[in-house]
Amino acid sequence: MEELLMGGTGMFLFKQGSRNSLNNKRFEETFLSNYEHCLGMRLPHQDTVADVLTAIDPIHLEMVKMRLMSRLFEQKWLRPYRLLGQYYPVAVDATGVVSFDKPHCEHCLTKKSKSGKVTYFHYVLEAKLVTAAGHCFSLAGEWVENPSGDFNKQDCELKAFTRLAGKLKKHYPRLPLCILADGLYPNQTVFDICRSNEWKYILVLQDTMLKSVQQEVDLIRLRKPATESYRVKNGVRISSKYRFQTAIPYKKHLLHWMQCVETKTKDVKPGVENTAEPTASTFEYVSNIEPDRDNIIRLTAGGRLRWKIENEGFNTQKCGDYELEHKYCRNSYRGMKNYYTLLQIAHLINQLVEKSKFVTALQKEHSKQTIREIWRCLTAYMLLVSPTGTPPIQPSG
Ligand SMILES: [Zn+2]
Repeated sequence: MEELLMGGTGMFLFKQGSRNSLNNKRFEETFLSNYEHCLGMRLPHQDTVADVLTAIDPIHLEMVKMRLMSRLFEQKWLRPYRLLGQYYPVAVDATGVVSFDKPHCEHCLTKKSKSGKVTYFHYVLEAKLVTAAGHCFSLAGEWVENPSGDFNKQDCELKAFTRLAGKLKKHYPRLPLCILADGLYPNQTVFDICRSNEWKYILVLQDTMLKSVQQEVDLIRLRKPATESYRVKNGVRISSKYRFQTAIPYKKHLLHWMQCVETKTKDVKPGVENTAEPTASTFEYVSNIEPDRDNIIRLTAGGRLRWKIENEGFNTQKCGDYELEHKYCRNSYRGMKNYYTLLQIAHLINQLVEKSKFVTALQKEHSKQTIREIWRCLTAYMLLVSPTGTPPIQPSG
């Protein structure tokens, strides 16, 4: 079982993008002996791996992933990334995984286009630990899926959040979390869940949400900022103004509101007239962490870490050689879920490698050295250099 699951994980670890690609490398004796030398086990045929992944209950592999994460927390090296030195920032968001023109399984979600065409698809809600250094680790996942048999209303992201929260609390019972989420989340159910789990939250406040809170802060938006900051990053001058209001009643909750208005201006050399138009963006959040003049900058920066789940999380997994949307197991929903979890495990391991001192030093050596290039070299090395000590082939000249 270990060999088979490692074989499935290996497809993502080596960023092969398809079962076929890793299968082809099984014909290469040097690759096989390097694989066995590194991992201490044989490389199985990917069809056998798929057969196993179609058969096993997805909770087993999710448990493996959650144990790996628990181990990282025990090692304490993630502690410096806590918000205000106390709370692990956990971004929650959903993403599409696969879609089909025809019904794929009984749990598919469906949507109808204006022309009447029905699409069948699968969607997953993720809770990922995000850090300012760019880590994005899956803590738990929950599929947005329809139940078997008849149902009135399709499953949705917010219903899945209730289940995801249960999973998070069960597997990380004492972990101090701060939930970061988009404008869909500021509502009574989410506030209740966070209160009963003793979690903090920083949620995007869109102007259409929480009408009574909006009315309360309308005048505060016109007030003088509570504090300001100024910095220059990559030749851009960024000035930020911060406002906040504490203890706004909303149903059974007291919410704190905060705002960051950021103005960016392109920097120019001294003596040159600056004609660039500044651009302004406004970020507003509701939270159950009380803001003050000292912590407001750190709190809004924490709220903005939510972006990492989209960039470092979903985008990397879709475009960064993990091919999240590839149909690894077309005929089995269970198989698809298991491949998804193996991808999360491989991405976790690869992030630890890619952010290690060794790899970051390699990247600094050459300005054009990219992670993708390092991975290409790694695969080439495994294909061409025998692990038994045969010296690499020296290019002539
Ligand atoms: Zn389906």
